[in-house]
Amino acid sequence: MSDRPEQLYLDQLDPAADLAELSTLEADLDAVEAALRRLDDGSYGTCEECGAALGGLDEDPLARRCPDHVDR
Ligand SMILES: [Zn+2]
Repeated sequence: MSDRPEQLYLDQLDPAADLAELSTLEADLDAVEAALRRLDDGSYGTCEECGAALGGLDEDPLARRCPDHVDR
């Protein structure tokens, strides 16, 4: 079932999301595609700055950086 990170993410999307959220969704789509590339190259689930294993992927399957390096 929903064992792929992008599917976990898509399951959370509200199909009735209003237009104002579209730009955010497009940015998120970029993040999904980036996550897929990271799955392909084996770097998924690790911080792209320091390579540390990331926790909390159940809550945020698109996480790319550890708490020390997250830029938001
Ligand atoms: Zn890091």
